[in-house]
Amino acid sequence: MSAGVDYVIVGAGTAGCVLANRLSADPGVTVALIEAGPPDDDPAIRVPAMVAKAIGNPRQSWGYQTVPQRAVDNRVLPVPRGRVLGGCSSINGMVYFRGHPREYDEWRQPGWAFADLQPYFQRLENYDAAHTPQRHRGGSVNVIDIPKPNPLIRRFLEAADSLSLPRCADFNGGDPEGFGPRQATIRDGRRESGVTAYLNPARQRPNLTITTDALATRVMFEGRRATGVELEQGGLRHGITARREVIVAAGAYGSPQLLQLSGIGDAAALQVLGIAPLLDLPAVGRHLHDHPAASMSVRTDNTESYGLSWRTLPRSVAIAAQYLLFRSGPLASNVFEANGFMRSGPDLDRPDLQIIFMPAHRNANGHWLPRGHGYGIIFVNLRPASRGSVTLTSNDPHDKPAIDFNFLSAPGDMEVLVRGFGIARSILSAPSFVPINGRETAPDPQVQGRAQIEAHIRQSLVTVHHPCGTCRMGDVVDASLRVKGIDALRVVDASVIPTVIAGNSNIPVTALAERAADLILGKIP
Ligand SMILES: Cc1cc2nc3c(=O)[nH]c(=O)nc-3n(C[C@H](O)[C@H](O)[C@H](O)COP(=O)(O)OP(=O)(O)OC[C@H]3O[C@@H](n4cnc5c(N)ncnc54)[C@H](O)[C@@H]3O)c2cc1C
Repeated sequence: MSAGVDYVIVGAGTAGCVLANRLSADPGVTVALIEAGPPDDDPAIRVPAMVAKAIGNPRQSWGYQTVPQRAVDNRVLPVPRGRVLGGCSSINGMVYFRGHPREYDEWRQPGWAFADLQPYFQRLENYDAAHTPQRHRGGSVNVIDIPKPNPLIRRFLEAADSLSLPRCADFNGGDPEGFGPRQATIRDGRRESGVTAYLNPARQRPNLTITTDALATRVMFEGRRATGVELEQGGLRHGITARREVIVAAGAYGSPQLLQLSGIGDAAALQVLGIAPLLDLPAVGRHLHDHPAASMSVRTDNTESYGLSWRTLPRSVAIAAQYLLFRSGPLASNVFEANGFMRSGPDLDRPDLQIIFMPAHRNANGHWLPRGHGYGIIFVNLRPASRGSVTLTSNDPHDKPAIDFNFLSAPGDMEVLVRGFGIARSILSAPSFVPINGRETAPDPQVQGRAQIEAHIRQSLVTVHHPCGTCRMGDVVDASLRVKGIDALRVVDASVIPTVIAGNSNIPVTALAERAADLILGKIP
């Protein structure tokens, strides 16, 4: 057993990095941050436009897959997840989005309405172009407007105009509805992750220890009080004591897995796996949900898009030089530069459909191809009703859990995507795209009619990586994020989010962790 600290944080992802910084800001408090993955030294993490390479590096990924998704032709879907310092913030798309205010209000959890979180959205944000009271300069996370978006973005936004779809000037300005440019977490031409925004400024503090390549195998208890964490490092297991609290920030898959390995979960199911139950809490691992999305891809001989080809070789060399010399230009962009949030039907009170434009060539499964030119649209169901689970497959902490989104099991979930398909096709065939002569490659232009469109959606369905709900606030944790029925144990990460925010989840998790830090330190009741 190694010497103890006040707080042990498991998982150096988005939430873990925020907590490590805020809790160790008091020099009298000792903090240990434990991360299963390696340091974030892959150059692809730094260069924003190399995001696909960062996601694809197996050294920094958990390499999860879903179980076969019954309503999706039994397909097994890849589930990328950061296993690296910074967690998913080190491999994500860097899209900056707070979410629609009403989404937080509908959590109906005391202290988590949008108005309660607003000070934390301000505290975390450094947006130089802030020009409204909602926006802020001086926070931890650097936020930019992409200085020179790809030329296809103009065509996309003009296409939306031609369909009378409204514009939105600032998706983070209070009313995120309409079409417009996105903002990104990028600083000086490099990715802004949890590491760069929160860990690096705190690294030199003597009261903060950061340990990488260390797998937390279980939480340790005395009775029903968490007292520390057992780790596996270099093949050896040892414990680290937490004098005040253990904080599990291992993400929407890792947190329910660790709780279950520690005896907290569905007692009967744990017993079957040979795990002695500590607390029967069947909601652990349940209610998994995420945004299902499908896509359309177009190929073109026009070379405006991101992508490599012989014809653009001189331009590519110039772009590389520009980045190396000035850290600017297309390589300093996260590629996901514009989107729209819209309602799929007239009866809705807010958007449930996201239309993401991709100014790059993609294959039939929606994977971005670095070679060749093209563009496409990913259409996302923002408020899915399907719910699934994360369950253990054994009592071995090295074994991956079974991840089942149960995608499209709720009857209405397909309908939103079918409407998204219609919007995507209308946009991609709008007059602004006609001069560049694109050819639909996925699906085939012959795909018409409801049955064929649904079949295409099932074939191209993916997750857009915003899982949550598996340690749901209200069921598994209380509104202070304490595990119900256990002392000195909290969960702080995407897993506690009761209903997924209609948009990207990194900033919602960052704000959640900012507020959690104040709760833990007793700064707010
Ligand atoms: C490919 C991809 C693209 C995305 N794009 C965007 C985007 O553009 N914009 C956006 O807003 N959101 C995006 N997201 C989502 C966003 O990044 C996540 O919602 C957010 O990072 C989740 O933070 P977290 O703290 O809950 O979990 P994570 O960041 O996943 O952190 C969990 C950490 O815990 C570690 N861990 C897990 N188990 C253990 C264990 N037993 N022992 C030790 N350590 C452990 C993991 O290795 C990881 O580092 C994307 C996500 C992915 C995967």
